[in-house]
Amino acid sequence: MANWKESISNFAQNALNKSKGIAETTRLNLDIINNDQKIKSIHQEIGQYICEHLELVTADETLTALLASITELKEKNEVNNAAISEVKARGKCANCGATLNANSKFCAACGTPVPEEKPAEAEAAPAESAAAEAPVEENAVVYCSECGEVLQNGAVFCGNCGKKQ
Ligand SMILES: [Zn+2]
Ligand SMILES: [Zn+2]
Repeated sequence: MANWKESISNFAQNALNKSKGIAETTRLNLDIINNDQKIKSIHQEIGQYICEHLELVTADETLTALLASITELKEKNEVNNAAISEVKARGKCANCGATLNANSKFCAACGTPVPEEKPAEAEAAPAESAAAEAPVEENAVVYCSECGEVLQNGAVFCGNCGKKQ
């Protein structure tokens, strides 16, 4: 009698141990991943430290090549950053920083004339088609009293002729 009761409780105990085992491996695996990540970040730190303390290492071809790659990538990013600030500066009023509509000749917020840019023309085309596709709220459209151009939302000055509204 006690035997089957025992075997049932053994069975339950085994199942419990199994799930405990799974939980344990999961925990251990996570620990392994965690430690591997820490090792990687220490590797990174070592690399950075060596880059900043080159006097610690003797001349080595592999290291020299790797350092040259870093310099090259840094230069590329400097070019990228310069391009980003150029794109950001474009499309904004030089006087007040308000966002300009594509093809605006005057800032809608302060009326400052927008200097014409050669590279802007290449990007004006896709911006224009995007604006054309965007749904326009009929009742929101306001036209310039001087030249009839559609005014930017909340514009104080006409983007086309610069007339104050
Ligand atoms: Zn402005
Ligand atoms: Zn106008």
